[in-house]
Amino acid sequence: QFPFGRRLPCDIYWHGVSFHDNDIFSGQVNKFPGMTEMVRKITLSRAVRTMQDLFPLEYNFYPRSWILPEEFPLFVAEVRMMKDSDPSWKPTFIVKPDGGCQGDGIYLIKDPSDIRLTGSIQSRPAVVQEYICKPLLVDKLKFDIRLYVLLKSLEPLEIYIAKDGLSRFCTEPYQEPTLKNLHQVFMHLTNYSLNIHSGNFIHSDNVNTGSKRTFSSVLCRLSSRGADVKKLWSDIISLVIKTIIALTPELKVYYQSDIPAGKPGPTCFQILGFDILLMKNLKPMLLEVNANPSMRIEHEQELSPGVFENVPSPVDEEVKVAVIRDTLRLVDPQKKKR
Ligand code: ADP
Repeated sequence: QFPFGRRLPCDIYWHGVSFHDNDIFSGQVNKFPGMTEMVRKITLSRAVRTMQDLFPLEYNFYPRSWILPEEFPLFVAEVRMMKDSDPSWKPTFIVKPDGGCQGDGIYLIKDPSDIRLTGSIQSRPAVVQEYICKPLLVDKLKFDIRLYVLLKSLEPLEIYIAKDGLSRFCTEPYQEPTLKNLHQVFMHLTNYSLNIHSGNFIHSDNVNTGSKRTFSSVLCRLSSRGADVKKLWSDIISLVIKTIIALTPELKVYYQSDIPAGKPGPTCFQILGFDILLMKNLKPMLLEVNANPSMRIEHEQELSPGVFENVPSPVDEEVKVAVIRDTLRLVDPQKKKR
C-alpha cells in the first residue's frame, strides 16, 4: 500500500474504488476509466434500453425500466396503456435510487401514483422497474446470484466469468407481493446488508446451507430437481456478454479520453459483480452490475450484546480467493512478456 504516493513503477496497480490516477504510464490497472459511472442504475438502464430498442428479443433479460423524475409521465402513460390492453395484469414496481447500494432507499409500489414524488425524488433521481413477482425459490426463500466477471480487455473484448459465485438468500419465506407485504424487506430484497439484521440470518460454515451459499451448491440442488443447468449457464453467459456489449461504446470513449492512443499509459482490467435473479422458469434476469464488488472474506459476528468480532466466512473465501487468484493469473505480466 502506498497511502502517501507511489515510489516505484508497478506491473499491476490495484485501486480500491475507481480509476483515478493519471500518473501511470505503464503496467496494468484494475479499473477502467468511467466504469463506475457506466454501471450506475440510470446509466446502465439507458445503455441496455438502447440495445432493447435495437434488439428487443436479445435484450429481454432486463426488467422494463423508467428513469425518474424525467420519465414519470411516460411511466404513468405506459402502465395505463398496458393495464387497458390486459385488465388481468396486476403489476408491482420497484423504485431504486440512482447510485444507491445495499438496498438503500428501495421500495415497492403497486401503482405509479404511489411514487414518493415529493422533494427527495427530485433531488435523488431513481429507476423504477417492473418487479419480478415469480422468482425461483429454494427452501421457500427468494435468492439472487452474485457472479464475478473479469473484463480483461476492451479491445479486443475479452471476458471471463468465474465458475462459482454467491447465492444470497432472503430470511423470510417469499410470498408474491400484496399491499400487505410490500414493505417486508426480508421477504423481497436479497441484500446481505439488510438480511444480516434479521433475526433469522444463518451464518454457516457449510457452503450448502445458510443465508449465503455458493452458487455451485444451488446449481447442484437445481440439477437434482431435474433443472437443465447447462442451458442456465449458457443463458447466464449470454446475459453477461450482451450487458458488456451494451456498455462498451461509452467505455471506449472514456478510455480514449483518459488513455489516448499513442501516448504512454497503462492497460486496464476490472472485476465486475453481476447481480442476477432467476425467474421461476429458470430465466436469468439482470438486476445490476457492481463496479467495485466487495472482496471481504470475513463477516461480523456478535459475540455478546454489542461486542463484535470479525470471523472468517468460508463461503466468501471459497469464491473470492479463487476470483482474485485467477484474475492475477490471467493478467500475469510475466505471462505477457513470455
Ligand atoms: P442495490 O444496489 O441497492 O442492492 P439492487 O438493484 O441490487 O439494488 O436491488 C436490491 C435487491 O432488490 C436485489 O438484490 C433483489 O433482491 C431485489 N430486486 C431488485 N430489482 C428487482 C426486480 N426488478 N424484481 C425483483 N426483485 C428485485
